[in-house]
Amino acid sequence: MKLLLICLDGVRADLAMPDLVAADPAFAQPDHPGERRFAAAPDGPAPDHTVALASAPENLAPTLCRLARGDDSSQGRVIPMWMTPPTDSGPGWASILTGSTHEECNVWWNEFVGHDLARRPDVLSRLYFANPAARTIAAATWDAFTCASGPGPIIHSRVDQQRTGQHQLFHPGHDGSLESLLSSDDAVRTWASWKLLHEGPDGAVVYFEGADAVAHAHGADSPEYHRQIRQVDETTRYLVKAVCERHEQLGEDWLIAVTTDHGHKPEGGHGEDEVEVRRAFLVLHRVGSRLPEAATRPQSVRSHEVMGLLLECVGATQGSWQAPGLGVVRDISPQGPTRDPRFEW
Ligand SMILES: [Zn+2]
Repeated sequence: MKLLLICLDGVRADLAMPDLVAADPAFAQPDHPGERRFAAAPDGPAPDHTVALASAPENLAPTLCRLARGDDSSQGRVIPMWMTPPTDSGPGWASILTGSTHEECNVWWNEFVGHDLARRPDVLSRLYFANPAARTIAAATWDAFTCASGPGPIIHSRVDQQRTGQHQLFHPGHDGSLESLLSSDDAVRTWASWKLLHEGPDGAVVYFEGADAVAHAHGADSPEYHRQIRQVDETTRYLVKAVCERHEQLGEDWLIAVTTDHGHKPEGGHGEDEVEVRRAFLVLHRVGSRLPEAATRPQSVRSHEVMGLLLECVGATQGSWQAPGLGVVRDISPQGPTRDPRFEW
């Protein structure tokens, strides 16, 4: 099975899919506590996790809703996902895409200072490790995803595969203004939908930053943010359309996953432990068929569980190698040459 993973930064589930969120009690409050040092008020009372869901005027994301509902309940679903603070984008996406806790990949900030991503390969690399014939693509508005010169990259460069087109990366760049960033999202959409339609890679990660940027500029309660959720939903539809076309013409088997890394406060912003910030989602949809059994199991997921779940769904199993001291660097103290003739070479 092929994998299309669509990453929508900063989309609030309760605004995008209010009916589906209200129908699932696992969306009501976090399934695990956050550390107090990442709390909005670390010295104040513990946060009230019974905050009422926002009432959106309508489902702002009809494509996400249609993917989640499927033609019947066996074809799609939305799984509640609870982010672990700090709920910044770097820690969130690094966790989602590498199957790592914050501690494991050591990503705590958007600057990725001191990260350990070289030892925490991303989901596309895992597909390649499972089968070195796998063809993969990644496109992203944020340079942390794909750029070797960026603060990550979360998606490994794998230059040998890039030389032969087996691993393709796209980052259009922007000047930092909201307008330029939104047109970068459009460029990512166009590049990715062309690649998906004409080349049908075995694994694809496509990331859009627009919703997060608009929420920072205008807040989650603003009509601008609501419009942008509609926009990224429409952008998602382009990518879905491409893989559905391939399913129809070629009979290819596709798993579509759509996820986000955090919500936004009414006034805009994230990073701490507010319920509306920690609440995220994982939409799963198998084109033209029933979801794999693995996709039907979890009642909720945490960000570091997403990668393993996706790999299991598409049937990509990893190798195993355990040895004493594996991966640990140890220097030796200066004692001079051995006098044991067995080791004197
Ligand atoms: Zn984000």
